[in-house]
Amino acid sequence: MKDKVLYIELTPKEFKERLSRAPIAYLPLGTLEWHGHHMPLGADGLISSGFFIELAKKAGGIVLPMLFLGPDNAKTVDGKEYYGMDIQSYPSQHPQQLLGSAYWVKKSFFKQILAEVLKQLKRAGFRIVVAHGHGPSTMAFYQISKKWKEEIDLALYTCWRDNESDGLGIQTDHAAANETSLMMALRPELVKIQNLPADKDEIPLGLDGKDPREFASSEVGKKIISLHVERMAGILKVALEKINLENQ
Ligand SMILES: [Zn+2]
Repeated sequence: MKDKVLYIELTPKEFKERLSRAPIAYLPLGTLEWHGHHMPLGADGLISSGFFIELAKKAGGIVLPMLFLGPDNAKTVDGKEYYGMDIQSYPSQHPQQLLGSAYWVKKSFFKQILAEVLKQLKRAGFRIVVAHGHGPSTMAFYQISKKWKEEIDLALYTCWRDNESDGLGIQTDHAAANETSLMMALRPELVKIQNLPADKDEIPLGLDGKDPREFASSEVGKKIISLHVERMAGILKVALEKINLENQ
């Protein structure tokens, strides 16, 4: 299988060829969001795109550009808006707008965007859509998937498993050991662990999960990616066989 998998790079002929082999679209759910002093602001989309590129090479299909708008917990204090890690990092009455975050939209609006994207993908010929990335965006996709599966007649998947407690899922924390390991495996040059406090007793700002200074590595990231490329490729193979049976 040819390795050109990005939607934005395909000519119509190449698009048609890939689509006829595997009508799968991968939608990276990104953000522009504080991911600690050590990670890029686009971490969510970079990780999910990077993973989907590997998966598309194995399972077939086409990788869409990342969405950078997404929902999150939100709170207004004294007329100022705070969301996601702004609040989680400062659970008291004093949240802080973390530098660089610019992604928040209402969950109901985000679901509308997803629904429109799905309609466009169906129209373009896809039969399966896999979406994953920023937690609250992935959750919104999961929540609409039941309804839209039937209404738009698309098979919809995220990359979540039933139990993610082993830390070896795809994007199961926020800028902590899991996401940092994935970024180290995919784009090592973008991770600056040295930007985090050298004193391990000092808790890094705006992270949620196990300490990346102790537990993140590119080896762990690579292990997670190969585990989920295999796992998702198996799921998608079965889904494609089902579609082919229906078409006979
Ligand atoms: Zn993230």
